[in-house]
Parts: sequence; C-alpha cells; structure tokens
Amino acid sequence: MYKRRLSSETRVGNIGIGGENPIRIQSMGTVDTNNTEGCVAQAKRIIDAGGELVRFTTQGTREAENMKNISAQLKADGYNSPLVADVHFTAHTADVAAQYCEKVRINPGNYVDPGRTFKHLEYTDEEYAEELKKIEAKLVPFLNICKEHHTAVRIGVNHGSLSDRIMSRYGDTPAGIVESCMEFLRIFRRENFNDVVISIKASNTVVMVTTMRLLVETMDKEDMHYPLHLGVTEAGEGEDGRIKSAVGIGALLTEGIGDTIRVSLSEEPECEIPVARKLVDMIPECTKLREEAQASIKDDTITLNVDAPDWETLQLKAAMAVGALLIDRKATKLVITSPASYASPASLTSLADAILQAARIKFTKTEYISCPGCGRTLYNLQETIAKIKAATKDLVGLKIGIMGCIVNGPGEMADADYGYVGAGRGKISLYKAKECVEKNIPEEEAVEKLLELIRKDRA
Ligand code: SF4
Repeated sequence: MYKRRLSSETRVGNIGIGGENPIRIQSMGTVDTNNTEGCVAQAKRIIDAGGELVRFTTQGTREAENMKNISAQLKADGYNSPLVADVHFTAHTADVAAQYCEKVRINPGNYVDPGRTFKHLEYTDEEYAEELKKIEAKLVPFLNICKEHHTAVRIGVNHGSLSDRIMSRYGDTPAGIVESCMEFLRIFRRENFNDVVISIKASNTVVMVTTMRLLVETMDKEDMHYPLHLGVTEAGEGEDGRIKSAVGIGALLTEGIGDTIRVSLSEEPECEIPVARKLVDMIPECTKLREEAQASIKDDTITLNVDAPDWETLQLKAAMAVGALLIDRKATKLVITSPASYASPASLTSLADAILQAARIKFTKTEYISCPGCGRTLYNLQETIAKIKAATKDLVGLKIGIMGCIVNGPGEMADADYGYVGAGRGKISLYKAKECVEKNIPEEEAVEKLLELIRKDRA
C-alpha cells in the first residue's frame, strides 16, 4: 500500500513543498534568460499545462537580475507560480537571484569547487576541513539573503557534476554523492535555515534510485526530513525519455519517496508536464501493480499484466510498476501482457526491452544521454538529437551523450562512448569516453565529424 514519507514543509512563494502538500510538478525553461518576453511566454505555457514551479538558468548576474523583470511581467499577467533560478559555478549569482526568485537551486559540485576535470586531488583532513570552510564562507551570506527575502533553496546534486574534491575523497559512489549534499545540509542546519528542498539526479536510473534512498536514510539518521525533488537527468526524448523517467522517478514514488518531480525531456518544456502528471496520478495504482509484479516473479522473470486507455499511459504505467524491482535486480527478465486492443505482442515485447534498458539490464538499442536544454544551451539541441539519432540508431550497444553545455556533459558522459557537447555559441567539442578529442568545431560540421569518429573506430 502506498504511504508517502513524512517530510517537513518548505514554503516556496505561494505554494508548499513536502509536508501535507500534493506532489508538485515542475519544469525548466529553455529560452535565454535575458529574453524577458520569450521566458514569460514559455513560463505561461508551462503553467498553463499544469506546471507548478518554473525554473530558469541564471549563468551570471545579468540573467539573475532579469529574473526580476520576468517575475514582474508574469505577476502582472496573473501568473503567480514560483520562479526558480538555477545557479552553477558562480556563487555570487545565487546572492542576486535570491532577491528576485522564490527559490534558488545551487549545485554543491560547483558552488565553490571549480568544474570537474577528473583529476585526483589529495587532501589531508585539515586541508579538507579548510575546503568546507570556504563553502561555509560563501553559503552563510547567501542564506542570510534568502532569509531576508523568504527565498527557498534547492540543494541540487548532479551525478554528472560532482566536484573533483568529492570524487577524490569518496570515489564515484552513492556515499560520495550523498555526502556532497550532506556537507551543505549540515551548514544549512547550523544556520537554522530550513526552507530547503533536496535533489540528487543522475542519468543512470540505478545511481539515481540508490543514492536517493541512501540520502533518505542518511538524513533520517541525522534527524533531517527535508522534502525531496526527483528527476532523471539527460533522460532524452520521445518514448525512451519517458520510459527512463518513469523507471527512475516511478521506482521512488511507489515507495513513498518524492515531494516534487521534474521529468526532463529534450523537448519543449510544456511536454514534460502531462508525463509528470500521469506519474503522480498513477502512484496508488502502480504501487499495487508493483506488488503484483513482485509476486509474479518466477525463473528470474517478472510477468506484468497492464491496461491503460492509451499507449503512452500504458508505457509509463508498466515502467513505473516494475522500475524498482528491476533496479533492485529482483528479476532481470520482463514479460508484459495487456488486454488493450491497440497493444500488439510485438509492441509489448519492445516496451519490455525498453524498460530493461532503462533499468540498465539489457541493451538492445543505441543509448542516448541527452540533456533537456536550458538557457545555457549553445546549439539547436532538438534538431541535433534528431540528426544524430537518425544516423546512429542501428548501432546497438553504443552510448552517445548529447549535451547543450559543459555543466553536466563530462560527468554524465563518463561512461558514454562518445559525447557531443556545446563548447561556445555555435561551437561543439567532441568526446571519446572522458577525453575531449576535438575542440570548438563549428556546429554545422560537428554531427558529420562525430559520425566520422564513430565510423573510424568501428572500421
Ligand atoms: S547540460 Fe543541458 S540542461 Fe544542463 S545546463 Fe547545460 S544546456 Fe542546460
């Protein structure tokens, strides 16, 4: 039976997250944050679709300042949903954004630490403690600004942008990912700052689910019960993006974890909202289906009988019902049946394969790790994904990362075979595994260069 984890409530503008509040649905704009009109129009589309919070990237002070104009215009037009600023690399930007937004997301991986280089760093305990003091020195003034303006904060850890400091000390482990969050949370608590939401996201559903569970356990031990934001980053687009999100987010929702969610798709942001809505609405039903599917396990096989009014809902429901069972490797095979007349046996088999791939058990098609895009995106993301997919879709077993910018690129693509990353406006860098092999290629030539690279290696 579904029972939601009890959390404290965080006030974010005119809504509450956690506590007794419904699970909130959110999305993020893709328009340049300096483009007030574009951001306002996009925020309205997200809100009209049912989004309850809208996030925009704030690369620097200029973008953070413009959140004031975006917020004023939206409020003047009767749109009062909270706005969230997304900050990476420049702690000062968070100080500015906190004055104009209802919530600011900071990333422990780059709030003070520089961007990830995969270098191993050696610290004595004293040196490590000094690094934590540097974080505190930036964080405390920021929290004071947030207190003054009643601004909430999301501590948003990304597996893809963990710092070299954390990676060197803890390795690429769930414990390290959780600790990167706890280091910040302990400062928040010392400062008596409780308007917090926490997220740990990864494009790998197994990493995302296991670290979120560990985070809950670790917070409980330290008597912290903050609300949680769930998401699978770089899930991609289309059916695969939806299925991957449903496996990861659904696994946690069906065990009562999660107070707000974002389904990240490399599509228009308003397309994310109906998918998120369905996941939230199907929690009780999928919790029951999960129990039935677990009871069905025989010979390492889950048998799931699932019905739904349409194909997309059926896909999401199936992925959500069995996500946790597969992530926990309760079984590694899946058979889906359905009374729905539109669901052919072949389509149900390919759905089962897609779910097994999303749970990282069996890879039957090319894997794309593509970010949803945001105001930092440095090239035409959707068009590029379509081109790369069309040219590589038959290369089973290949993993290709397609990232709008460097924030999450290198980390999330650490286990990808190739990476296509925005390096500057209209400029692309290509990666082979973790190594950057071509820098700053003009966008027009980059897809072909990537394909050349793949062809050469396969030959
Ligand atoms: S990786 Fe994509 S979504 Fe993430 S910050 Fe860069 S452009 Fe935005």
